[in-house]
Amino acid sequence: MFDKSAYLDIIDFIKSKGLLTQVVSVSKNHSIEAVEHAISEGITVFGENRVQEAISKFSQIKQKFKNIQLHLTGPLQTNKVKSALSIFDVIQTLDREKLAKEFFKYPDLIKKKIFYIQVNIGSEKNKSGILREDADQFIKYCVIDLKIHVVGLMCIPPISRDPTMFFNELKEIASKNNLLGLSMGMSNDYKQAIESGATIVRVGTKLFGERK
Ligand SMILES: *Cc1c(COP(=O)(O)O)cnc(C)c1O
Repeated sequence: MFDKSAYLDIIDFIKSKGLLTQVVSVSKNHSIEAVEHAISEGITVFGENRVQEAISKFSQIKQKFKNIQLHLTGPLQTNKVKSALSIFDVIQTLDREKLAKEFFKYPDLIKKKIFYIQVNIGSEKNKSGILREDADQFIKYCVIDLKIHVVGLMCIPPISRDPTMFFNELKEIASKNNLLGLSMGMSNDYKQAIESGATIVRVGTKLFGERK
């Protein structure tokens, strides 16, 4: 179930810093009942990693509650772009040219969406995201050539290393490219992320418990 007091702890931390960070409650691998419980506690912004799971959990909920905003926080295959656009309001994982081109095929659908470009900030082999050295060019390609509504960058720093340096690097790439949004920070590092200027933190385990 949804842990309201854990959520309020995060909100208190954000307020104590005088900031406006948005909390995305990541409900992946948790039940519809857990999502409904969170909604009954006033939560409206959720994150899911997979298109099919998002559709099966959120189709009816989004019909019923018009103020729900759903973020895609997991990697997206190009053949799922159209379905993703049918359920998600925010795409946080735009990470390669092929995917950007696929979104570009649906101008009427993407004009109502908000995008973040995912950067592989630790240059890790098995992690998605555009490489740091390709980020400036990819951002320009998405924003200028394809006119995709990119508002910021997203990253997942390498585990078991101090995340702050990576958060600061993401911030630097964003500001160099005139992007204001910074989606960074999860259950284990949301405090450092908020202190580094995150505009969004994506929190799962702390709010919903361990995933099955
Ligand atoms: C699962 C996931 C989260 C939530 O992670 P927790 O450690 O459970 O808070 C956040 N962001 C992304 C991209 C994820 O895949």
